Amino acid sequence: MRLAQRLDNVETSAIRELFKLLGKPGIISFAGGFPDAALFDVDGIREAVLAALEHEPGAALQYGATEGFDPLREQLAAFMAAKGVTGVAPADLIVTTGSQQALDLLGKTLISPGDTVIVEAPTFLATIQCFRLYGAQLLTVPVDGQGADVEVLQRLIAEHRPKFIYLIPTFGNPSGAMMSEARRRRVLELAVRTRTLVVEDDPYGDLYFDAPPPPSLLALSAQVPGSRECLVHCGSLSKVLSPGLRIGWMVAPPRLLAKATMCKQFSDAHTSTFAQATAAQYLAAGRMPATLARVRAIYAQRAQAMVQALRHELGAAIEFVPPRGGLFVWARLSGAGGACADGAELARRAIDHGVAFVPGAPFFARDPDRATLRLSFATVDEDRIREGVRRLARALRG
Ligand code: PMP
Repeated sequence: MRLAQRLDNVETSAIRELFKLLGKPGIISFAGGFPDAALFDVDGIREAVLAALEHEPGAALQYGATEGFDPLREQLAAFMAAKGVTGVAPADLIVTTGSQQALDLLGKTLISPGDTVIVEAPTFLATIQCFRLYGAQLLTVPVDGQGADVEVLQRLIAEHRPKFIYLIPTFGNPSGAMMSEARRRRVLELAVRTRTLVVEDDPYGDLYFDAPPPPSLLALSAQVPGSRECLVHCGSLSKVLSPGLRIGWMVAPPRLLAKATMCKQFSDAHTSTFAQATAAQYLAAGRMPATLARVRAIYAQRAQAMVQALRHELGAAIEFVPPRGGLFVWARLSGAGGACADGAELARRAIDHGVAFVPGAPFFARDPDRATLRLSFATVDEDRIREGVRRLARALRG
């Protein structure tokens, strides 16, 4: 069998290998990137399924438009409007099969082999793989507590004229970082000035803990003339409602949206009409605000438990910026006192001590920082978080 050449650009992720070890009994896992299944609003979704079958059985079970089910497009436009996005009509977005498909459609429509794309260091692993599959050369912009470094971004754009820039400005996976409003404005101004397309991936923005994050790039674009034409925004119901529904969406300039729709036609024809009708009913029933309030409160408590336990148990051996939302603590082993400073080595030892997490190196498209790790607090209750961190401390000591 002769496989396509494009597969030469990607390999199975190291993380997938690690997941094979997670079946060990009694292991506490901080490794997943999932929301907590125990928090799914099963009653609300059951009602939405029944309402979809009751009120629109034909549409819910029939083939549908590639762009998406219109009642859902309307609900999604309203969902974004409630978060300060102005001037985005239902026709300005398409529904995708998870935001993952939006990323794939962007790869298909924008990347020719050899094109340069700038991503954050670190960034979402599946994005790295997906863009590489289309032949992208990835350059990286470092992320600190305030998000991507705009000075470096500016220099990279000037030097390399990238096809586009991919950012997760709000509680990124894996960085957990929240880009400041000032940097968001500068990104949009830079995009306009250099005529560079910016892709904002925003599946976590609703999962804030204490205070809402700054407006999304999409919301801010109303205040930066010309920036809407340089901006793509990907949204998802996965982290706030259910990843199994596979409902994502993409807002993009009309020409790009039309090409992405054409590519989607050849890919899956349309996102499940049944899932779309269900999501539309769910949003129309007005349940989302209460669902969000509930998951935010629980993730906030778990995040706090993890942050406190890490400080208490690992002290100077670990450095991190406490997340203000999302699902992850992104941390760096300092090597203080001669402790292990290699994420992959610690991950191996940790499994033996009954705790799992993901080493950070694979999240770097280049020049990996091997001292980093990603810890998810989302699916573990507070007592187990504290116990897991104690085990991590033991693993670190030896
Ligand atoms: N983008 C980011 C940053 C993610 O972390 C994820 C899920 N882990 C996705 C996109 C894809 O999510 P989905 O396809 O379920 O919407």
